[in-house]
Amino acid sequence: MRVTILGSGSEGNALLLESATTSILVDAGLSHRKLLQRFAAIGRDAPKNVAAVIVTHSHTDHAAHASTYATRLSCPVRASEATMQSIRLRPAAQAESFTVGREFAVGDITIRSHALPHDAPQVALVFETKATTVGLVTDLGHVPKGLEQFLGECETLLLESNHDPDMLEMGPYPEMLKRRVAGSLGHLSNGQTGDLLAGLPHAPKRVVLMHLSETNNSPRLARSSAEAALGHQGTELLLAKQQQPLELDPGHDQQLQLGV
Ligand SMILES: [Zn+2]
Ligand SMILES: [Zn+2]
Repeated sequence: MRVTILGSGSEGNALLLESATTSILVDAGLSHRKLLQRFAAIGRDAPKNVAAVIVTHSHTDHAAHASTYATRLSCPVRASEATMQSIRLRPAAQAESFTVGREFAVGDITIRSHALPHDAPQVALVFETKATTVGLVTDLGHVPKGLEQFLGECETLLLESNHDPDMLEMGPYPEMLKRRVAGSLGHLSNGQTGDLLAGLPHAPKRVVLMHLSETNNSPRLARSSAEAALGHQGTELLLAKQQQPLELDPGHDQQLQLGV
């Protein structure tokens, strides 16, 4: 599965997953114009034949442009029942909710969901094809029971590493926002992310740190915390950015189609 992260962070999230036959956009926090600019920046056309826009939760950095994506790409918005109730889709946008914990498929991609603790109903998602499994976990205040098992088979894990607690504490956010971010329904600190990585039953082949705060974190701190938790050389570690796209495995699907 080819993974292209168009942007990751509180200013807007979107990523594209492509199997041999199916494309899915996950989250719609970048404007459609920005989305096209990000694809152009990596020399790609806008994706055609997108089968669904999946929205993890209702916060604007993930859901604001869901209607636009769905109408421009002529595909449904998929979200959990609770999220679907709280996002306002335009009547022209087709909506199909899913039940958290119940597996469903979009084309040849099987999707599983697991509830996450956040200040809006939120899910972790695992995307599985015959070739590989990709997990997406962002926007959670703590690691809930059973998440490590849920992510156990992921080859690629896209995982929030939002803030450094000291930088948050000393930083410019108002007190209330500091408490929200650090709280049990906020976002994962680098240390919490490290604990999750250390507790996984199998080390993923690749971990991408996501949703880093540009104010309360530094790429160096996030990376060194995750490296310490992984504790070995076998896992590739990458960082997603707010402004620049990140492509994983370009050309992988072509190889699958050719049977190479
Ligand atoms: Zn977010
Ligand atoms: Zn959120």
